[in-house]
Amino acid sequence: MSFASTNDLAEKTVTFTELGRGLYAYTAEGDPNSGVIVGPDGVVVVDAQATPVMARDVQAKIATVTPLPVRQIVLSHYHAVRVLGASGYPAHAIICSEATRALIVERGRQDMESEIGRFPRLFRGRESIPGLTWPTHTFAQRMTLWLGEREAQVIHIGRSHTAGDTVVWLPEERVLFAGDTVEFGATPYCGDAHFADWPATLAAIRELGPEKLVPGRGAALLTKSDVAEALHQTESYVTDLFALARQAVAKGWTLKQLYDEAMAALRPKYGHWVIFEHCMPFNVSRAYDEASGIAHPRIWTAERDLEMWAALEKGAPMKSAEAG
Ligand SMILES: [Zn+2]
Repeated sequence: MSFASTNDLAEKTVTFTELGRGLYAYTAEGDPNSGVIVGPDGVVVVDAQATPVMARDVQAKIATVTPLPVRQIVLSHYHAVRVLGASGYPAHAIICSEATRALIVERGRQDMESEIGRFPRLFRGRESIPGLTWPTHTFAQRMTLWLGEREAQVIHIGRSHTAGDTVVWLPEERVLFAGDTVEFGATPYCGDAHFADWPATLAAIRELGPEKLVPGRGAALLTKSDVAEALHQTESYVTDLFALARQAVAKGWTLKQLYDEAMAALRPKYGHWVIFEHCMPFNVSRAYDEASGIAHPRIWTAERDLEMWAALEKGAPMKSAEAG
C-alpha cells in the first residue's frame, strides 16, 4: 500500500523572487510556497513550511536580503505542510483566522499524522517538529499589520481550500499572498474544501485587483495576465470536478464510479499539473461528500486515507464511508 506520492522523492529547486521593495516569494517548483515581507524592524513570513528544518532554508534566503529576524508568521490555513515549521523562527506572533484555529483544535492532530503519511518528502527533518502549531493572535474577518508606513492586510477571504482560508494583501504594492486558494500549474488539493464557495472566494480576490500574486504552489505570478490565468485555472478545475460530483450524486453513482469518470474527464485537461494523481482521490471524495449534502468536511485520519485509497485505486469496498 502506498499513496501516489509516498515514493515521490525528488527534491525541488527553490526560487526566491523579488515582487517589490521588501516583498519576496519563496517558491519550490510546485511544493508549498512561503511569502516574505521585510518590515523596518523585522520580517513577516506567510506560511511557515512543514518543519523547523525547512524553516531554516527560508531564513537562509531571507538573510541574503536583510539581517532582520522573522518576527511574525501568518498562516494561510491549518494544513500541517504550511504550519508545522513555525517553531523554527524567532517569531513572537503567529497569526491566523479564528476559523483556522478552530480547525487546528478540531483536527490538527489527525491532519498532521495523515499529511506526513501521505507525502513524507514534504516533511524533511520531521523529527524537528515539536508538535502542533498554535496561533498567538486570531481575527474574525481581517486585521492590519503596520510595518512602519507599509500596510499589510490579513484577510479571511472566504471558504475555498479550507474553511479558514486567509490571504495577505499589500494594497499599495497590489501584491497578494494567496495561500492554496489559488494554484498555478499545480492541482488544487480539495480534500477539506468547500467547492460551492470557492468561485465566490476567487471573485473576492479579483475584486482586490492584485497585479502580482504568490499562489500556494507554483511560480510567483508577476503580471496581471498571469494572475488572471491562475485564478481562471483554479476556478476551472474546482468547478469542473464539482459539476461531475453533482452529476454523480444525481445519478446515484458510487464514489468509485465518480472517481473513474473524473480521472477520465479531467486528466486530459489537468493531468500535467503537479500532484494531480496524488490529489484526485482526496478531491473526488470530498466533492462527492459535498454534493451529497455533507457541509462540514469529514476529518482525514491515517486510517481513513488508507481505506479510501484502497477503495478507489483497487476497487475494494468502503467499509465505513460515513465514519471519521
Ligand atoms: Zn493546504
